[in-house]
This record gives sequence, C-alpha cells and structure tokens, in this order.
Amino acid sequence: MPAVTMGLGARNELAKLVESYGKRVLVVTDPGIGGQESFLDIVQQLKDSGCETSVFDDVAPDPPLEVVEKCTSQAVQTGAQVVIGIGGGSALDVAKVAAVLAKHGYELPTLFGIDQIPQRGLPTVLLPTTAGTGSEVTPIAVLSDESHQLKRGIVSDHLLADHALVDPELCLTLPPGPTAYTGMDTLTHAIEAYTNKFAVPLIDAFALEVVRLVRKSLVTAVKEPKNIAARYDMSLASLLGGLCLKSVNTAAVHALAYPLGGRFHVPHGVANSLLLPHVMRFNAPVSSDRYQVIGECLGSSDAVAAVQDISAEVGTDKRMRDFGVEQSHLTEMAASAMEVQRLLRNNPREVSEADALAIYQAAW
Ligand code: NAD
Repeated sequence: MPAVTMGLGARNELAKLVESYGKRVLVVTDPGIGGQESFLDIVQQLKDSGCETSVFDDVAPDPPLEVVEKCTSQAVQTGAQVVIGIGGGSALDVAKVAAVLAKHGYELPTLFGIDQIPQRGLPTVLLPTTAGTGSEVTPIAVLSDESHQLKRGIVSDHLLADHALVDPELCLTLPPGPTAYTGMDTLTHAIEAYTNKFAVPLIDAFALEVVRLVRKSLVTAVKEPKNIAARYDMSLASLLGGLCLKSVNTAAVHALAYPLGGRFHVPHGVANSLLLPHVMRFNAPVSSDRYQVIGECLGSSDAVAAVQDISAEVGTDKRMRDFGVEQSHLTEMAASAMEVQRLLRNNPREVSEADALAIYQAAW
C-alpha cells in the first residue's frame, strides 16, 4: 500500500514531502476544487517551497479518456517529475493514469483490464477531498469510455500512489449531497468486500470497521458539514474502504452501476446507493451469516433495512427512473453490465443476465 499520512492539517506536509521527488510538479484537480481557498493555499505552499508548479484543473466527473490525455500532455510539456492529485475519485484517478502515461507514453486504451501496465509511472501523491472512493490507496482508476457508453477500470499495482495524504479538513467544503453519496460509496465498498466470494479475514476487519464508522458518522457529516469529528471518521472509513478494494475489490453493485454512470452519468456513489439494497437482497440467500454481522455493526437485525434507513436519512434513496432511465433501457443495460466480469466474478451469488435485469427492474 502507499505510505499514508492521515490527520487534521496533513495537507501542510505536502511541500516538504514533494522535495524528495523533484522540483517540477503537476497538480491535478477539477474546476470546482481548483478555485477553493484550501486548494489555492496548497499550490501557494508548493510555489513558496521553490517548486515549479503547474495546475491541470480540467478533470470532469467520471473522467473521459480525453481528459487523461490532455492531462498527460501537460505533464509531458511541463517536464513534471511528480504528479499530485487533489480531489475526489475523478481527479485522483486521472492523476494516477496520467503519471503512468507521461513517463512511458503507452496508448491509454491498452491499459484497461487487470495488470496491463508494464511499469510504474512518475511518483504520485494523492490528497482526497471526498470520503469517498478510497482511490488514494487503491490500484484502480475508473474512466468513461464514451465509445462504449461504459465506465472501464484499469487495475494495476503500478497505479498505487507513492503517498496518500489524508486530511479530513479538505472535506469540510463538500456539500451535503456529495457527502451523502460518496459516503454511501464507502459503505458499498465495505459491504461488497465483506460479502465477497474472495473475502479474507484481514480485509473483513477493515470492512466491518468501515460499516461501524459509516453508521456512527455519515448522517452527522451530511447534516453538519463542518463537524470535523464526523469528517475524520468518514475520511478514515473511506481510506479503510480503499484498502478493501486493493485486496478483495467490489462485486455486483459496482458492476451494475457502471452502465448507470457510463450512459446516464449518474454520480458513482448515487448509482451504488440506489442499487445496494437490491443486490443485497439478491445475495441474502447465500450470505445470511455475513449480513447478520453487517446488521449488528449497523445496530439492526436486518442489514438491508438498516442500509435503506441510512440511505433515506441522507437522501440517497433514489430510483433509476429519477435519472432519465426508461424501462426500455434496462435490457441493454443488463447486457452491458455483464461485460464487467472482473467484478461480477467476485459476487457471492452468480449473476446471470436475467438476474441483472431483475435487479435493475427492482431498482427502477
Ligand atoms: P468526484 O471526484 O467525481 O467529485 C464529485 C464532485 O464533488 C465534483 O464536482 C467535485 O468538484 C466535488 N468536490 C469534491 N471534493 C469537494 C470538496 N471538498 N468541496 C466541494 N466540492 C468537492 O466524486 P467521487 O465520488 O469522489 O469520485 C467518483 C469517481 O471515482 C468515479 O469516476 C468512480 O468510478 C471513481 N472511483 C474510483 C475508485 C478507485 O479505486 N480508483 C473507487 C471508486 C470510485
């Protein structure tokens, strides 16, 4: 795993940390974060420490391939020696892939899938501003392949950051909506890791702690965005959830969410939270013992009902039809989800195309 520094104000260690990697720095973010005071302060600190600092602030949510290519060009043109990602999963994923492309010049489409990156790229330091995807510690990047209208993953240990700087203060500006759905994303990572076909005891411990932290602090983080204790818990949950992704990864919820993000641009966390209870119900017959433990961590004898209660309380209890999905789209979406076998194979219960369609119908 990457080296991790977590704590209030951890962002202030960035300039010192970067010294060991080089003086020419590319900072990758999105336009929303690029204008924020905390972001501008970090950039100023880098400049004050003598770094030649270039900012790429053009990351779009569910980043398309062209964004990565533009970011890579900027890294090459500025002779970047280190890439710093500051943002949610979208910005961090672009930073991770651009660091590889800038050093080696690979063709981006050849990197999709598992272990397709031959060598590590430029050093990367990642600072998450959502809680979250856990991308700061995962070997994964997810991009939108517009030609397939699908999100696609790149999975390689060569994507692991050199250093994750997790500063919960960077999440204080995250509005309630994204706080809710990124937090539900974290919960989904934990539930899909704990009930995974390839679950392992070490990761189980992380996953259950994530579930406890989400139960303790997600609602508070949504209702009191400046509550730093709740933000700390959620940043920790996100980090631990990311560690679940490296060793075990997710399953059917994420696979079925891909067409929702790729084609209908439903934010990743929203797509996961609206599918989660339906996939849990589908998996329940083969995972009842594990669901019982998750339920206990959520203070309930019924894990699915407890997840639905949290989702309703934070406002992510949506339906697919709320996002422009028509019933007539579901068959095609089910076929598309079946392409995400790298995640479906992790599901505790085999998912056929007919099962995927039934889950979509229940979530519609
Ligand atoms: P995001 O990065 O797309 O950001 C969502 C929005 O929140 C953006 O508009 C951004 O400007 C805003 N935002 C972020 N932080 C903010 C802050 N502190 N204050 C105010 N606004 C802020 O959202 P995300 O959910 O973090 O990332 C989703 C992406 O990550 C998807 O593409 C998803 O597929 C991917 N993902 C990657 C991994 C991985 O392991 N690499 C895991 C899960 C998901």
